[in-house]
Amino acid sequence: MLDEVGPTGKANEGSSRDAARRDALRGCLLGGAVGDALGAPVEFMSEKEIRRQYGKNGVTGFVEFPDGTGSITDDTQMTLFTAEGILRAHARKKEKGACDFVAVMRNAYRRWLKTQGGRVPETTPDEMLDSGRLIRERQLFAWRAPGNTCISALEIPAELEKAPNKSKGCGTVMRMAPAGLFFAPEEAYDYGCRFSALTHGHPTGITAGGAFAMLIAELLTEKPLEEALELVLQFLDGKPDAAETAAALRKAREAENVSELGEGWIAEEALAIGVHCALKHQREFREGILEAVNIDGDSDSTGAIAGNILGVINGESAIPAEWRSRLREKEIVAQMADDLWKRFEADANGRATPNWLDKYPGF
Ligand SMILES: [Mg+2]
Repeated sequence: MLDEVGPTGKANEGSSRDAARRDALRGCLLGGAVGDALGAPVEFMSEKEIRRQYGKNGVTGFVEFPDGTGSITDDTQMTLFTAEGILRAHARKKEKGACDFVAVMRNAYRRWLKTQGGRVPETTPDEMLDSGRLIRERQLFAWRAPGNTCISALEIPAELEKAPNKSKGCGTVMRMAPAGLFFAPEEAYDYGCRFSALTHGHPTGITAGGAFAMLIAELLTEKPLEEALELVLQFLDGKPDAAETAAALRKAREAENVSELGEGWIAEEALAIGVHCALKHQREFREGILEAVNIDGDSDSTGAIAGNILGVINGESAIPAEWRSRLREKEIVAQMADDLWKRFEADANGRATPNWLDKYPGF
């Protein structure tokens, strides 16, 4: 039984709007995962090298493994743990009436750290590290070029709200779509920033994560991308910490060529590249993703960001079937999208079902 309403106030069960919302959530997470997997093998190649190796159109499908499948990287792994952190915090809020979402998110990212073989602080209880659904997914233990900033920030044995570094790597933006799929736009910005600050200390790393979450939340209410982007920009104006993020988003709108926007290693550039490719190909999932992937620079992150945006706009069916079916982690990702859509699963008394608490215990 579902007892929740989404940020738009629409009940999460029974209406066709509801089916559309579920489709948008699946499109967003699967779209991001597909973009991530397409970009993974060319992340460290220049555009020229990509076209030399894969032909004049560059990468047009999964090229990493001989069997033609694709696999997600740290971008989608961390996106899944962001979603898990939100659902676990929400479960606590439903049970106890209040919850510190940021503390629960730190725990979720430490579980991701464990999957990557990082040095998890000794003070972290085993109960926290080994509980819930995602940590049981052995596929997520694959080591897929995780970002050093995320690893080292999470290894610090202290419960900090803001990482003591000056990094604005794109590791914030690339993982933040679930905040936009769960919270209403301004709340999505706020939590997007706070979840970003757990690993990155530079204001632009933080506000780019918030801006991306807010953009996804605006898109989920079925606004056209231009309008959603304009709302985000208006919201960012007047926030001094967000000036660099806002400037990059304006450039994304004005640029003629993706190469004008940098290489995407840093947060505001990755966001700008993803937004630019989505603006140019708003109803063409394949073209938008391939433009975001075939660039100089951080192809898996820009592919993931463009995929999140185009997926939430166009839904799951817009993702080419051969990409969806050949994505190795498609079941894990789709299940997380569905759970994020459900938000909570209650029994007849309004309490969390045992099944739900097994997957998303409130800590
Ligand atoms: Mg990656």
